[in-house]
This record gives sequence, C-alpha cells and structure tokens, in this order.
Amino acid sequence: MILSGLRNNTLDDIVRIKKFIPIMNEISPTFCLAKWHHTTIYLGTGETHSCYHPAPHKIPLNEIAVDPSALHNTEQKKHERLEMLNGGKPSGCNYCWNIEALGEDYISDRKERNSTIYTPERFQQIKDGDWFQNINPQYIEISFGNECNFKCGYCHPKHSSAYYKEIKDHGPYTMVKNHRNDIDWFKIYEEETNPYVEAWWRWWPEVRKTLTILRITGGEPLLQQSTWRLLEDLENNPLPNLELNINTNFGVKPVLIDRLVEKVNNLVNGGKIKDFKIFTSMDTWGTQAEYIRTGLDITVWERNLDTYLTKTSLPITFMITFNILTVTNFQSLLEKILEWRVKYNGDNQNKWQRVRFDTPFLKEPLQYDMNLLPKDEFLPYMYSHLNYIKSNLDDKNRFKFNDLEYAKFERVVKYMETSIYTPEKLKEGKKDFFNWFAEYDRRRGTNFVETFPELTEFYWSCNDN
Ligand code: SF4
Repeated sequence: MILSGLRNNTLDDIVRIKKFIPIMNEISPTFCLAKWHHTTIYLGTGETHSCYHPAPHKIPLNEIAVDPSALHNTEQKKHERLEMLNGGKPSGCNYCWNIEALGEDYISDRKERNSTIYTPERFQQIKDGDWFQNINPQYIEISFGNECNFKCGYCHPKHSSAYYKEIKDHGPYTMVKNHRNDIDWFKIYEEETNPYVEAWWRWWPEVRKTLTILRITGGEPLLQQSTWRLLEDLENNPLPNLELNINTNFGVKPVLIDRLVEKVNNLVNGGKIKDFKIFTSMDTWGTQAEYIRTGLDITVWERNLDTYLTKTSLPITFMITFNILTVTNFQSLLEKILEWRVKYNGDNQNKWQRVRFDTPFLKEPLQYDMNLLPKDEFLPYMYSHLNYIKSNLDDKNRFKFNDLEYAKFERVVKYMETSIYTPEKLKEGKKDFFNWFAEYDRRRGTNFVETFPELTEFYWSCNDN
C-alpha cells in the first residue's frame, strides 16, 4: 500500500532543518544521510531500502555470505551513495527530487532526515571515508519474516503469511487491475532456515554498538521467534541508549501480550534500553474495522490494549490508515480514543499522553482510495469528524484532542476536497472497487453491504462501470 504522511513542520522545525542545508552541501547538494544511516530490511524476502520512497531492492546472497553488513551496505546502495557524493540524483529517490524541484521553500524528506540524523561524527566519517565503506546505521527497521495472523485487504502476501496462503488457495485477484497480489514473482524464506536471518544474527553484535533506534515490523513480530530472541539479548546485554519500537497488530493471543509486558517492563524499568514504543494499526472501529483487517477480533484487541496500558506505563500510537472504508464511521474510533485517554492517561510527565494517533492516508491500491467516493455525498462525513475533533479540542487537556491532531486530520479532509480524478481513473477505480469486494466477500465469507450500509448504494453503482 502507498501511504501519504503529512508534513506538519512548525516554524521552529523549518528553521532547524534549513540550518543543516549548507552543512550537507559541503558534501554535495543531493547528499542524504538516510542512504548511509537509515535502513529497512525485509529478511523474509531478502530486500532492503534506505527509506520508504525508493523501491526495495534485492540483497545478493553472495554479498551477505562474505559480510553480513551487506544486509544494509549492498553494492547497489553503495553506488547510489557514490552518485549522491558526486551531486547526482539516484532515480529511486525521485520523491525527494520532485519536491525539491518545487522550490527552496519546500522541505523534502531528504532535508528533514539530514537534520535529524546529523551528528558531527557521522558526517565526518562519511566525508573522510571511501564511498564503498561499510556503515553501521543509526536506525534500522527490521522485518524477520511475513508470518502474520491478519490479512488486511490493502496489505500484501509479501508481508502476511495468511494473505499468502489465501492467494495460494484461491489464486490472485485477477478480476482487478490494481492489487492482484500475484505471488509467483518472489520467494519467502522460512524464518528457521532463512540465510538472511542467519546473517542478521552474525551482524547484530557489531551493528548494535551504534544503533539508536531499532524498529521491529512484520508480518506480526510477536509471532516470530527472532523478536523474542532479540528481547532476551537486550535483557542480557543492555543497550541503555537504544529506543526500541515494535509494530504489532495487537491481535495475538493474550498470553503473548503478557509475555511482552513482562519483557518490556524489565527492559525499561531496569534501564536496559532507553525507551520503548508500540505502534499498532486501527482504521475505524467495530465490525467495519474487522472487515478491513481480516483476522482482527475487536474484543481480543481491546483486551490486549487494556493489558498493555494497565500493566505498563508506556504509550501506544495508533496508525490510522485513512481509506475509503474509514470515511463514514471514523468518529466511532475518535470516541474510543477519548474514552481510552480518560482511562489510561495519568498526571505525571510519563503518563501525560499515552494514547497517541496519526492519520496518514492511503493512495494505493486504488480501490481503497477515498477519492473514489462522490464528494457531495461523502465529504459531509469528513466535515462532521473534523467538527467532532474541534468540539473536543484542548491542547492543554490530556483527555482531549490536540492542535496537531486536528491539523493532521484537517489536511486529510483537504486532500479529499481537492483530489479530483479524471473520469478514466474514477471508472477504473470503481470497477476495481466492486470486483475486489465481491471477490473478497466470496473468499473470506464476509458481507460488504451488510457491514457498510452507508456505502451500499455506492457499491452497486460501481457495478455499472
Ligand atoms: S533522498 Fe529522499 S528518497 Fe532518497 S533516501 Fe533520502 S529521504 Fe529517502
């Protein structure tokens, strides 16, 4: 899926980011520290990229056989670094070049990341070193494999074993143009016998020395043995400067949440790591949320949330992937957020705001894009959600919404207001919408029109395309 985050840089941020531009220009005007110090590594498929914008590329097995740091320092990435050192623009980074082409006032991710990753030591190491030197990154996002008990419709078999199995059993969604989910073009390695996982554990003693943020993503990390091995390693060999993050669907058996709580309390309260954060996805509430994220049992999920927030003093962030099925019922999730804020926020600094959320919006696959909906009929839902936030807005009250949350959602509304698709794109999207959900219901035993009565008329209208 393609998400679009929303820049909410304050004036202070902009001043800070701009301060670093001349420093970075000492190396080159296209230099990006993320190419050296940020990495996402998918061990299940053996792929990596430096941020979400360039497509992931394959990590050659012969490179990790010689040096496990090739999980990040691939030959391909090194050549992209060389291009940047020479002032070139690697094509995978077009997202940033396009933003920068709009003018100096536009803040690309490159400029923003340069300002957050920069330290004099990191900068100097790159400036003084060879272009092909291996770098221990400062930030790693790691996926140990695709094992997952959920198959969210907009996800992909690459990232979910449950989705993979569905495609194996039923074949790809050949009736749509977008998001067919073919599985014959990639290989998934089993965690136990995966050479990339083996390389990770060879690299770990070295890379842990300089790491400041480690984010474990999935599949579902709590179902993977490597996650627990990593938590145990940190218990035995603390990294007091490390921030550890886990993306979990929070829909696993409660016994695993109990185990997580015990480990995390031990790590954080014992000063063995600096900080710990959970990120979890929830796009709306109730049966509609269960429909979007097949595998989700909202009762189990809420019980797990309660266990975590009651037995730790840590925060949690909800990633609300705003999509076409979120539009009508989003307020029900907003109401739950306020309920949880009253229940779990405390008045000391640590517990001030433990229930956090972000609202990126989804652009792909097209059948999940909210801009397929007729504006006159569906924008009023968005205004109503925005009004709900506004009527519960108080930056100083931890039980209410804050200004930034309002601003972020206001921009989602603006995005829907201003995105007008061509008749051809609308036709393609609506056709895929109907064919996708008809097939989804057939395979998954769900019922779209019963679950989304507000969208029934739209659903049938898409059948005419
Ligand atoms: S230039 Fe932009 S797209 Fe490329 S690695 Fe840096 S932040 Fe990512």
